[in-house]
Amino acid sequence: MEKKITVLAGDGIGPEIVAEAIKVLDKIADKFGHKFDYTYVDIGGCSIDKFGVPITDEGMQKCKEADSVLLGAVGGPKWDNCPPAIRPEKALLAVRKELGLFANLRPTKLFSQLADSSPLKMSIVGNGIDLMIVRELTGGVYFGERKTEEVDGELVAIDYMPYSEHEIERIGRVAFESAMKRGKKLHSVDKANVLDTSRLWRKTMHRLAEEYPDVEYNDILVDNTAMQLIKNPTQFDVIVTENMFGDILSDEASMLTGSIGMMPSASLSSGTLGMYEPIHGSAPDIAGMNLANPIGTILSAAMMLRYSFNMMDEADAIEAAVNKALDDGYRTGDIMQDGCTKVGCKEMGDVILNNI
Ligand code: NAD
Repeated sequence: MEKKITVLAGDGIGPEIVAEAIKVLDKIADKFGHKFDYTYVDIGGCSIDKFGVPITDEGMQKCKEADSVLLGAVGGPKWDNCPPAIRPEKALLAVRKELGLFANLRPTKLFSQLADSSPLKMSIVGNGIDLMIVRELTGGVYFGERKTEEVDGELVAIDYMPYSEHEIERIGRVAFESAMKRGKKLHSVDKANVLDTSRLWRKTMHRLAEEYPDVEYNDILVDNTAMQLIKNPTQFDVIVTENMFGDILSDEASMLTGSIGMMPSASLSSGTLGMYEPIHGSAPDIAGMNLANPIGTILSAAMMLRYSFNMMDEADAIEAAVNKALDDGYRTGDIMQDGCTKVGCKEMGDVILNNI
């Protein structure tokens, strides 16, 4: 297969970690007989420096024309005082909007080799954590009308939280399909005891559940979910939820694994086009020092193969190679443990590459 990938390396450690992911993708192409064509586009601070905007119209067009987009990270202190309209993160929101990326998939995996770097006790996470949060990304309170007005001599602020059936149904389908590809268990998170949007959410999910009899479906309230993620995270396989609940729960879940450098993510559209990126930022404190952990980005590339290109064996091969690197005791600084071999960003990329 031949695929076009637009690469947004970005700022800080972005170019270093993306370079390792590309090396791994090239090895996959070699081994499985594919061809990946890369188009590099500036995004974030580096684009502001060159063009005065965080992404150019031509750059955006290259994202739309691609089969998939791979992102490193954007931002850094140099651009912290840019006017709001041209801040580096503006480009990310623009790409998500222009590409119609309504579904955010965040796998939360605590590799058993790294169990002691979790803030939770070994008795809770000793067997590792492996769950996926599917967050609705373009609806709800973040996109509803908002206003602040004076009522009876005091200010009153209102944020509307609209959800339509079709928005719930399309994210629901992504979640059920995702559960089918994983452990066939889905928790749908809402606040149906209080919110109308949640009651519509639950009704729509129940209708979908009938189409997926192989998936074990559960409703769960958001407050209980926040508690259960700490108390018993291994009970979860796939969690689906609306935008704001997902924002909060996915950050909570990512902390269970100890290191932000390990975690990939995918943002998907209704077609096969998606954007894939590690969940961390540009880490300016370690940029250009060969210290970054490239695993989150390499695992994001694996998600790209699985979700945009339907290359399951290829994605499995990358994940197995990462697992073997950890089994063999290779660690970047952020996940270093006694008795392990400390390696830099490039060397970790090489170890994973050689495992494929
Ligand atoms: P950060 O995620 O960049 O860094 C937080 C801490 O984690 C730092 O100590 C960093 O060194 C470490 N870290 C992050 N990724 C790592 C990796 N791969 N390997 C090893 N250590 C890693 O968050 P921050 O410091 O709050 O933000 C820095 C910049 O990144 C800011 O400008 C912020 O706006 C931006 N940011 C961008 C994105 C994105 O591009 N999607 C996301 C979050 C933050």
